[in-house]
Order: sequence, then C-alpha cells, then structure tokens
Amino acid sequence: MATERTLSIIKPDATRRNLVGKIIAKLEDAGLRVVAMKRIHMTPAQAAAFYAVHKDRPFYQELVEQMSAAPVVVQVLEGENAIARNREVMGATNPAQAAEGTIRREFALSIGENSVHGSDSAETARQEIAFFFSETEIVG
Ligand code: ADP
Ligand code: MG
Repeated sequence: MATERTLSIIKPDATRRNLVGKIIAKLEDAGLRVVAMKRIHMTPAQAAAFYAVHKDRPFYQELVEQMSAAPVVVQVLEGENAIARNREVMGATNPAQAAEGTIRREFALSIGENSVHGSDSAETARQEIAFFFSETEIVG
C-alpha cells in the first residue's frame, strides 16, 4: 500500500446546498486527509480545459455549464491508496447505481449533478492536482 494524493472537487450542486462540511466528513471518515483546499468559481474556459478528456461526449457542454455555474471546493486528499479510496467513498457516477453510504448515493441529484469529482488514476491525479495547486499550497 502506498500513500497517494488525489484531486477532489465538491461540485456546484453540493456547494449550493451547503453540503461542503458533510462531504468532507465522509472523506475524512474514509481515512483521507485534506492537505490543500480552496473555494473557487471556475470560468467556462477553465471547466472546459479541466474536462477536455470528455470533449467528444454528448454531455460535455452540459458538464462545462454545470461546473462553472456556481463555486466549487477543490481539494488535494492524501492517504493510503487515496485515488481508489476516494473513488470508493464517492460511489458510482450514476447515483442510482452508487452503493449505500457513498457520497453520491446520499447527496447526488443526477448522473450530471453528482456532487463530487475524483481523479481516476495516478497519472490524472498528478495532472489534476497541478491544474489547481502549486506544490507550496499542499501541506501534508
Ligand atoms: P466520474 O466523475 O465518475 O469519473 P466520468 O469521468 O465518466 O465520471 O464523467 C465526468 C462527469 O461527467 C460525471 O461526474 C458527471 O458529472 C458527468 N457525466 C458523466 N456521464 C454523464 C451522462 N451520461 N449524462 C450527463 N452527465 C454525465
Ligand atoms: Mg472521471
């Protein structure tokens, strides 16, 4: 087992409903530590760049609009197997398929407005962390 870092985003649907604390509590209860955090309002261009990997998917435009519609909280999470651990506590992309006790099962509104983002591999974690944070902003 290795200590890893991963990027988490608390999405606009969750910040609007004042769920930041409840979501962070679930992450911390899963053994993840917040080692960097900020609240930002992404421009459409920033959201488009962040999700560029999905640019050919039918939901891309809607995703960019939703992610730039209200503030988000971006965080670096650290812990044993943090990338997979975060994905586990997030739950499946579609909340209807998310396991009991997961963030998406409890809080997500729909497959699009699903409350949280989490990096899906070591390589994307590195890229996504660097998209929002400089090394000096991450304090483990
Ligand atoms: P995940 O966030 O679980 O890694 P993806 O990387 O596949 O999921 O998709 C990125 C985001 O795009 C999802 O979290 C969700 O907000 C949105 N999304 C994915 N699939 C759909 C869909 N079929 N319809 C609408 N939005 C979607
Ligand atoms: Mg993804």
